[in-house]
Formats: sequence, C-alpha cells, structure tokens
Amino acid sequence: MSEPMLKISVTCPDCALQSVSEMPIALIANALLTGKAIRLHSVCHDQYWTATFTEREQLRKSLAALKLEPHSHRGQAHAKQFQAAP
Ligand SMILES: [Zn+2]
Repeated sequence: MSEPMLKISVTCPDCALQSVSEMPIALIANALLTGKAIRLHSVCHDQYWTATFTEREQLRKSLAALKLEPHSHRGQAHAKQFQAAP
C-alpha cells in the first residue's frame, strides 16, 4: 500500500542547494497539527535537520494547495450541503 506523498523543495544547510524531497502527506499534516518537529533531508550532503518555522509554513501552504488540510470534517459538511442543494 503506497502512502500519498508530497513533493517539497528543501534547501541544504551545508551548501544551500535546493532539491526536491518527498514526504508522506499524513506525516506532515500530523506534525503540523500536533506541533511535532518535521525532519527534512538533503540528498547532496545527506543532512537531516528540523524544519524551521518558515519551512513549516511552506509545508502548510503546500498541503493547503492540495486541499487536503487536516480539517476534513469541514470538507465533509460542505459536501453534504452541496449534495442537499437542488
Ligand atoms: Zn548540500
């Protein structure tokens, strides 16, 4: 079973090279909701680091752009209203 992944652009803290990394959407959403640290990874220097506030905001916006924000109950309520309409 494959997890839905989000492509994110990360900047290596060692060489400032931008690269594209993939993280599970569920992991990002959960970390943003619970305030848990998000670990980012750069391939060029095999570096792991904790996402900064700015990087978290970028992830949040990327999730919002996918319309997969954690408030899924809101989406369901909206869908019901939509279906009830003539
Ligand atoms: Zn690097």
